[in-house]
Amino acid sequence: MNLPFHGKKVLLRVDFNVPLDEHHRITDDTRIRAAIPTIQKILDEGGAVILLSHLGRPGKKRLPDGSIDKERFTLRHLVPRLSELLKRPVAFVDETVGPKARAKAASLLPGEVLLLENVRFNEGETKGDAEFARQLAELADLYVNDAFGTAHRRHASTAVVAEYFPKGKKSFGLLMQRELENAGKVLSHPDRPMTAIIGGAKVSDKLLLLERLITFADKLIVGGGMAYTFIKAQGGKVGASLVEDDRLDTALSILQTAREQNTELLLPYDSVIADRFAPDANTQIAPSNDIPDGWMGLDIGTTAREDFAKAITDSKTILWNGPMGVFEMPAFAKGTEAIAHAVAEATRKGAFSLVGGGDSVAALKQTGLDKEVSFVSTGGGALLKFLEGTPLPAVEAMEA
Ligand code: AMP
Repeated sequence: MNLPFHGKKVLLRVDFNVPLDEHHRITDDTRIRAAIPTIQKILDEGGAVILLSHLGRPGKKRLPDGSIDKERFTLRHLVPRLSELLKRPVAFVDETVGPKARAKAASLLPGEVLLLENVRFNEGETKGDAEFARQLAELADLYVNDAFGTAHRRHASTAVVAEYFPKGKKSFGLLMQRELENAGKVLSHPDRPMTAIIGGAKVSDKLLLLERLITFADKLIVGGGMAYTFIKAQGGKVGASLVEDDRLDTALSILQTAREQNTELLLPYDSVIADRFAPDANTQIAPSNDIPDGWMGLDIGTTAREDFAKAITDSKTILWNGPMGVFEMPAFAKGTEAIAHAVAEATRKGAFSLVGGGDSVAALKQTGLDKEVSFVSTGGGALLKFLEGTPLPAVEAMEA
């Protein structure tokens, strides 16, 4: 992020998509905090910052008359917190492009910060409209993108706008740079053995990721709901566990690739099974391939936790995406917690560990171990796409 910021106006795309309560109060300001170093650097180097972000999905959650719910989705709600974190006033304008935004941007002085209105109030944003992007570009001299969470979308403010700035006038921000470096570290020349831990509900959501990792990792641990599709495909009895019957062949082909590539694919030997999908269900431990009818696997079992922990603590590079069970319910959170502890222990022993994807981060925070891994990614969908090897439009636009 070495652009000549001095005396320049910088259009900075951030991800301020923070959760708000019904009184429009911020309940978790992590994303705002994550952008502060980039904002501060531009200000310290004599630039002025024009902040651009989305908040929620105003186009999808409209008022009954079909109009945008501006009161709910306005970025104005963020001004006090942002101003407090930056220790300086933050100006706000209730439009993104247009005469008021242009006038405010034009009169901005070095060291000043202007927050534009929610970029998704304009229909052109999610459509990647070129004219809207051009109007955004006109507001500033330089463009910096620090919104890794939306890097997989070809929206006007994330990708298209970058096309209006030549090389030397655009850059990734510090957060985005770190995200790309850390995800890149896992994919190119990782210290081996490299172990990928993939969990969560469905095989179909993470198919491309599984197919890539099976050829690349030394060990692939598959837990969570998706494990039962693999176990059933091998002839196991999985009871009422989550299974995607249309993915049994896919699971078999991943298992076949694992054999061909000499990748160790670890499935949970046993499971915590429940007679209902409920926090107070009756539970017991059973082999994952011998689950009685009517019972469902909702967490990895005690033997699986030990097997997985051993594989993890022997590794030098670890990638973790997705919980090992229904961690939202305490009765089925122990498997995910055990994995969090193993990843933290491996990290203490010198491994590089990257945890990403919304639910894995939530699970890691639940165990209080989020400071004990090497890197926690802020990008859910964007990280998955990057790891799958799918080009990210925001990254490509920066390099064009
Ligand atoms: P994902 O968004 O694909 O990472 O999936 C996360 C979700 O998968 C969480 O809400 C978990 O509750 C759910 N999940 C994990 N394991 C299981 C399981 N064995 N059965 C049903 N759902 C599960």
